[in-house]
Amino acid sequence: MRAAEFVSTLPSGMEAWRRGRVLFVVPTIPDDARPELKDALSLRRRALLAGECPCGARLVLSAAGFLMAHADDCPAGDESIKRLLGGES
Ligand SMILES: [Zn+2]
Repeated sequence: MRAAEFVSTLPSGMEAWRRGRVLFVVPTIPDDARPELKDALSLRRRALLAGECPCGARLVLSAAGFLMAHADDCPAGDESIKRLLGGES
């Protein structure tokens, strides 16, 4: 799998990266985010750009876009990020 290339920073504060023909939008990490959220976003970015996560999730590319199914207890998973963004702990 090809390495991801940085494309640009979007007005929303997200960053666009490209791997082959697929464009990824990944979260930037706010300076004022709580440490747990920073760690989770950082892991999610690294996992997405590397194509794999320490939890075992692997990036799957398709014509429809991309999918990365993190383990239920992975800090970079959707539920974890949602919870951290929601301010619950
Ligand atoms: Zn994961």
